[in-house]
Amino acid sequence: MSMMLAISQLHIPTLFLILIATSLTMTACTLAMWRRDRPEGLGYWTAGIALLGLAFVLIGLRDQISDLFSIFLANTLMIAVFALYGEGLMQFQQRPANRWLLWWPVAVAPLLLITESLPLRVVSMSGLLLYQSLLLLIITLRLQPPPTGRGQYFIAAAFGMIFLTALYRGTGTLLNPDIMPSVMAANTIQAVSYLTAIISTILLGIGMILLIKERTDAQTLQLALHDELTSLPNRRYILEVLERLVAGLQREPHPLSLLMVDIDHFKHINDTQGHETGDQALRVLANTLRLGLRAQDHAGRLGGEEFLLILPSTNAEGALQLAERLRLNVEQQVFTGGDGQPLQLTISIGVCSMGAGEIDSQQAIRQADQALYRAKQLGRNQVVACT
Ligand code: GH3
Ligand code: MG
Ligand code: MG
Repeated sequence: MSMMLAISQLHIPTLFLILIATSLTMTACTLAMWRRDRPEGLGYWTAGIALLGLAFVLIGLRDQISDLFSIFLANTLMIAVFALYGEGLMQFQQRPANRWLLWWPVAVAPLLLITESLPLRVVSMSGLLLYQSLLLLIITLRLQPPPTGRGQYFIAAAFGMIFLTALYRGTGTLLNPDIMPSVMAANTIQAVSYLTAIISTILLGIGMILLIKERTDAQTLQLALHDELTSLPNRRYILEVLERLVAGLQREPHPLSLLMVDIDHFKHINDTQGHETGDQALRVLANTLRLGLRAQDHAGRLGGEEFLLILPSTNAEGALQLAERLRLNVEQQVFTGGDGQPLQLTISIGVCSMGAGEIDSQQAIRQADQALYRAKQLGRNQVVACT
């Protein structure tokens, strides 16, 4: 109860100043981040938060400037702020915005403001805000692709808060218009509204910055763990996967198999057809391997023209069958080389299978490597199991 009392007695002009200071500070933060590499969506949000601050400056000057600015412009700006947030969220997802859904309240707002009655203006603006905050809440919760971190929830919390506050402000003023004699009237509805505006501005600014950071982090991780040429997991990543699966063997009754794959006479392809064709061959092979594997299998590029395939829950027999099928797939694959001539590749494969506690990952790799070496010695384009 005493908390509600404290809220109802908050000094509205002070809250007003804090709100303006908060939005300007947040504008400076998002602007600084936006200027560096212009992340999608942040430009609109910076403009939105800046306009919010401006709108409140205009409202605060109610008695000193013309109603045209302090009523029409200020309230329309406030409604436009939310349209800008919507634009930002759509741009962040690189999806086209549905302009009608976002901007009709901005066109309607000035018409609703043609009334001498402050309570009526408060109610109609709250109505528009209800619609906008709900729309933005839905957009936020349905972001595509789904964000990996928490930024989304900061933003959703802000729009949820704004929705509830608009509901409270609209219905409270509708039921008791006398409590809104002026924009600076001191009452609980006013205090809650300005508190919400301050908190949501902080949440929205931080939320959007987080959302962007989460996405760049995910992209960086993807780059750090994948090979640029083939998009397959790189050496570090595939060896990490192997380490994890070998450790899991303790709990698994099923064996794990490794396939060490190496292109035959790849140097010859590079030498006669050029490096470009060599790269193209690597991409073709990576695709063929990827397509030939099952969902639970893993493929990675160890380096050069050497690939490691990991087959969980696969015994030696199953691994040999799969290896033979991959070898055939590659042999039958025809692609166009640098000189426009059809080109074919062959691969040699060393296979090694392991059960729980038998060998560690280093030994398994060494054995698969030895089997591969034997396949090369035996004339290439074949599969050899380790002994
Ligand atoms: P083998 O049948 O015994 O495996 O013979 P090879 O010629 O395939 O084996 P070697 O290890 O002698 O040659 C590998 C070649 O792979 C040498 C190198 O130029 C080439 N290579 C390694 N990485 C890349 C790459 O990213 N792109 C291209 N185009 N070539 C690469
Ligand atoms: Mg080779
Ligand atoms: Mg090699």
